[in-house]
Amino acid sequence: MNALSSGLRVVALGHAFGPHEIIADISFELPRGRVGCLIGPSGCGKSTLLSMIGALTHPARGSIRHDFRHPVFVFQDPCLLPWRNAADNIAFGLTAQKLDRHARRRRAEGLLGEVGLEPADAGKYPHELSGGMRQRVALARALAVRPDLLLLDEPFSALDVGLRRQMQALVRRLIGAHGLTALLVTHDLAEAVRLADRIWVLTPKPASLAAARDIDRPFADRDDGFVQAEIGRLLADPAIAAALAVTEDER
Ligand code: ADP
Ligand code: MG
Repeated sequence: MNALSSGLRVVALGHAFGPHEIIADISFELPRGRVGCLIGPSGCGKSTLLSMIGALTHPARGSIRHDFRHPVFVFQDPCLLPWRNAADNIAFGLTAQKLDRHARRRRAEGLLGEVGLEPADAGKYPHELSGGMRQRVALARALAVRPDLLLLDEPFSALDVGLRRQMQALVRRLIGAHGLTALLVTHDLAEAVRLADRIWVLTPKPASLAAARDIDRPFADRDDGFVQAEIGRLLADPAIAAALAVTEDER
């Protein structure tokens, strides 16, 4: 990938699990520094696609190229180690890096504050934290290794609506503050409109691209009125409405 097109490029990607065709033929580009969102119905292959981009699954067809040094995942399940406290969970990925214990601790504590947790939360174990706090720890753990690509797989789907909104705002701030590129997978159109620069809508299995749309408005200006209006505009496209199986009554 040359300097002009730094980022992620997915070309003619296809995949099957045994006889089951999961991903048909997907191509898209995510330039460095942008936030992309893959949206599609449950079971269409979003997680499979993201795991291929993160090199956890090898695609059967097509290619994935990127020049990111360090991709990290954040999943719906925070996957914290129950026998480690919050600070040690955040610092977990740093053991492989040449940092002494104090430096690891300092980085973990700095991130604890950045994700909106209190110093007193550092010593708490996962069972002592709420679902939202656990997801904040998972975010901090991902950021601790200084990634440049954030792969977010429905990270807030398990949280209630109010908390989800807070976490969306937090993630947007962190992406800006850490100069990250991000690719978010979701089935929530409002989440896509709030967070993404570019949205790719996937069809039901086997996933293919139904539409690609840019959301041009600055994040600070994406109030509820804008989000609702933008959802209306997106669903007015029959290809998008059909892919997301939204009936005329629901629009
Ligand atoms: P989504 O994230 O959009 O809900 P997934 O990528 O998790 O969808 O799954 C897409 C389809 O692939 C589903 O039908 C799922 O059952 C199937 N699938 C996912 N992973 C595997 C696997 N390792 N082996 C076989 N089938 C799988
Ligand atoms: Mg999934």
